[in-house]
Amino acid sequence: MELEILSGDITMVEADAIVNAANNSLLGGGGVDGAIHRAAGPELLHECRTLGGCGTGMAKITKGYRLPAKYVIHTVGPIWHGGGANEENLLASCYKNSLLLAEKYNCRYVAFPSISTGAYSFPLQKASKIAVKAIMEFQSIENVVEKASIVCFDKKTKEYYDKALKEYFKKD
Ligand code: ADP
Repeated sequence: MELEILSGDITMVEADAIVNAANNSLLGGGGVDGAIHRAAGPELLHECRTLGGCGTGMAKITKGYRLPAKYVIHTVGPIWHGGGANEENLLASCYKNSLLLAEKYNCRYVAFPSISTGAYSFPLQKASKIAVKAIMEFQSIENVVEKASIVCFDKKTKEYYDKALKEYFKKD
């Protein structure tokens, strides 16, 4: 899997699927979730209403509507409670389950935001390492997904993910 760290707004990315850092209701929220719903248009919320929510660490897929991306994969990151509530495994599951769903829908290029590091307060350094590892070590069944990117909305986030990717390659 090729992994690239980008700066920018994920709603503009021409991926086969973009991932949304949603909440359990899947009925929209702030941050990247709000931006994706605004850019996709009201049809996205209509489809999300039919999904019955989503568990933390799990993922569900919808169409992308007015977005350049064909699909939106909605995943629910863990809220950071200090690290003793399985947050690290749940965050890794978000990346893994999103990639499994992308594979099922034949997506070759998938773009992720920095899941859980905004309103959900997951420490950025820990989150960046978990994200890079989960994507790089994704056990694909059919090698459908060729490329993933993490789209960072601010400079600090970009710096942490760049560092996490560099260190991932250094350690082996
Ligand atoms: P969470 O609730 O999972 O923490 P947030 O949306 O609050 O999700 O934040 C996750 C990350 O998404 C943060 O780094 C935030 O700056 C970033 N973000 C917000 N808007 C966008 C956007 N349009 N494109 C990419 N990333 C975004």
